[in-house]
Amino acid sequence: MTPPAQTPLLESLLQGGLLLMATALVVALVLYNRQRRRGRRLGRKLEAAHSRLDNALLHDRLTGLKTREEFEASLEIAAAACDRDRSTLGVLMLGLDQFRVVNDAFGHALGDTLLQRVAARITEALPGCAAARLAGDEFVVLVPGQDALVRQRTLKLLDAFKAPFEVDGQPLQVGCSIGLALYPLHGARQRLTTNAHAAMRAAKTAGGGAYSEYEPSMGVNVREQAELAHELRTAVERRELELVYQPKIDALSLQITAAEALLRWNHPRRGVVSPGVFIPVAERHGLIGAIGNWVIEEACRQAAEWREQGLRMRVAVNLSGFQVRQHDLVDRIEAALKAHRLVPSRFTCEITESVAMEDTKITQQAFDRLRSAGVHVSIDDFGTGYSSLASLRRLPAAELKIDRAFVSDLETSHDSRAIVTAVVQMAHSMDLRVVAEGVETEAQRDLLVLLGCDELQGFLFAKPMSAKALALWASDDGPRAEGMFRPSLFEDTNALPLDP
Ligand code: C2E
Ligand code: MG
Ligand code: MG
Repeated sequence: MTPPAQTPLLESLLQGGLLLMATALVVALVLYNRQRRRGRRLGRKLEAAHSRLDNALLHDRLTGLKTREEFEASLEIAAAACDRDRSTLGVLMLGLDQFRVVNDAFGHALGDTLLQRVAARITEALPGCAAARLAGDEFVVLVPGQDALVRQRTLKLLDAFKAPFEVDGQPLQVGCSIGLALYPLHGARQRLTTNAHAAMRAAKTAGGGAYSEYEPSMGVNVREQAELAHELRTAVERRELELVYQPKIDALSLQITAAEALLRWNHPRRGVVSPGVFIPVAERHGLIGAIGNWVIEEACRQAAEWREQGLRMRVAVNLSGFQVRQHDLVDRIEAALKAHRLVPSRFTCEITESVAMEDTKITQQAFDRLRSAGVHVSIDDFGTGYSSLASLRRLPAAELKIDRAFVSDLETSHDSRAIVTAVVQMAHSMDLRVVAEGVETEAQRDLLVLLGCDELQGFLFAKPMSAKALALWASDDGPRAEGMFRPSLFEDTNALPLDP
């Protein structure tokens, strides 16, 4: 049987329909592909726009540096890492000196170009460090690393501003002031940027072109300082001042050798104010003389009380530069020693290295008189000033206290170990005993003993405590770690005889 014949019309209709469908399919495919390409292009454009938006939000338009928010986020992460692996970092706040003058004299366009050049110089000097522009001419940089390294990098950044900036074909010399706050040394992570800012303001106030490291007194504003000074005037009479004591112990025998008196102000509203805050205020407002005299008298009174209880150790007080320059300082010390019948060699005057090195006639006289009075002199915070061996030889010192900064770096910093080694050798060659302050870990203690330190002081052994608590701590049944400590290095001292 033959299949039924299709009519030519039907055949051509079918063929035409198929062709139409095929064409429609091709057109649809082309359109679909084009749409997909366009979609992809659109997606890419959208992505680019997003990233530009992110950039605009995260980066400063003018300089391309991070914004404050981005910087704070980076700082948060870096500080958390420090907490985790006990590392350290620094925040540098940089402000241009006289930027307003440039802006006023040359116009804002040139000022903007200068800010761009400054940003480039910051990133060149400290590559890999997160940097941001906070406002106007203020920049902030996060520098990871040990304290000593951060200080070195701060100097490097300062140095980078020595060369003039090329702006519109003109060389423009612009200096800067830098404030440095270290973490964790200078306090909580939330205060870091503020503290670095306060330090930068201090550098500017001191004339600019330099860097300042944060000190607690910088965090107190001018109005607060005036208020503190006013209240400090009556603090002695109101019995708001108190001495707490921190022991020094012999590195080998672990016997107590001394108790250092550290001043506290129990403020009725503010709580305990640390000496780092109020001593500079007292110095600036001429109050340190009266406060210093109270400290000498109170420490001597306490030393006599301890002696009566059978405790045998030196008592140390800290003297400020102002006190050392007071003509009657040694008279006062001698009078207090006599009144409480104390042996002068059991009384230590701690004087910071920077004060001790002031080579003035008046400080020299004070040292000569301290020597002839027979009191024990200690050079505090050693390593932070710029002593020469010759000037050290002239002092009547019997003790050097290595600054906490070197001790805290000891485990990680080769430089700090080298410095401690050199200081110990030098001090021993001059018959000085070496005390390491701020010992916080057993590893630090072991290294310090190995390097030849004679005495140790720090939170590892005891924090500063009340006189009563110290007496308990130093007695046989006191609350201290077993085997850490034995009562006293010294023989009993009798009270000096009363004057006839
Ligand atoms: P300084 O004489 O070098 O005292 C050491 C400071 O380090 C004390 O702080 C002490 O509490 C702290 N410290 C001790 N061990 C450790 C440790 O292991 N880790 C850490 N992180 N810190 C430790 P404080 O009591 O706040 O005193 C600060 C400074 O104020 C003293 O430094 C001293 O220069 C000054 N000062 C204290 N009392 C007086 C005073 O009666 N007169 C004068 N002129 N200055 C004083
Ligand atoms: Mg001291
Ligand atoms: Mg010290």
